[in-house]
Amino acid sequence: MAIVRVENVSKHYRLGDQDVKALTNVSLAIEPGVFLAIAGPSGSGKSTLLNIIGCIDTPTSGRVIIDGHDVSGRTPDQLADVRARTIGFIFQTFNLLPVLSAAENVEYPLLQLKELSKAERQERVKHYLEVVGLSKYASHRPNQLSGGQRQRVAIARALATHSKIVLADEPTANLDSKTGTSILKLMQRINRESGTTFVFSTHDRKVMNMADRLVRIADGEITALGMRSDDQWMF
Ligand code: ADP
Ligand code: ADP
Repeated sequence: MAIVRVENVSKHYRLGDQDVKALTNVSLAIEPGVFLAIAGPSGSGKSTLLNIIGCIDTPTSGRVIIDGHDVSGRTPDQLADVRARTIGFIFQTFNLLPVLSAAENVEYPLLQLKELSKAERQERVKHYLEVVGLSKYASHRPNQLSGGQRQRVAIARALATHSKIVLADEPTANLDSKTGTSILKLMQRINRESGTTFVFSTHDRKVMNMADRLVRIADGEITALGMRSDDQWMF
């Protein structure tokens, strides 16, 4: 069963007296455990699609089913709850809270999971900082970390809630090519080892070639679906 199902989703934005069509009739089923790239040029609708899958934004029409739950027509509070328990988000600009340490940033979304004790939260923080190789930097604030290290903190934060789905919007866009590749390799290793579903957007060919599934998007429409086997894309 698909972990994410997007059915006939369209999204229009009002911009002054203009109607901007960001997505038109997009349908997509994402299988659990995939490492999927949404690839397309700037302005093609990648962020809009990720934000809709991530329950940060709602479609103008169509349905979104996340882990068996139809999230269409839910209230903002209900969406926040689905998000907190199911989805981890990684942003292009890292979006860490500047006054908090790396450890506190990872702990932050765990505060919403009321069933976790303080000791359990701290255990998770310790574990996920270790997973991303930042145990020694637990008490550093974001401005004391490099871009790649900041993105590692964001990855730990996305995983700490035991998200089934990690969504990453252009996670390498603000990193140099070598650091970007290492971030993708880290995400790939976590995907292989934990089975967590990863969906990331990119306009970088090298980054999209690290995926095992590809969704090509142009002008708000899906133009191709690809699957990689033996280093070859099949469309
Ligand atoms: P991408 O992530 O591929 O760069 P986006 O999803 O950000 O694409 O944008 C798709 C289209 O929707 C673009 O034309 C963009 O200008 C427009 N758009 C995105 N967000 C808004 C918004 N909040 N208001 C108006 N137009 C928007
Ligand atoms: P605030 O309530 O301060 O506006 P949020 O609760 O929206 O902030 O987000 C708190 C922190 O968690 C921010 O750093 C934000 O980037 C991050 N964040 C927001 N949504 C998610 C998500 N779905 N998964 C992981 N982190 C998120």
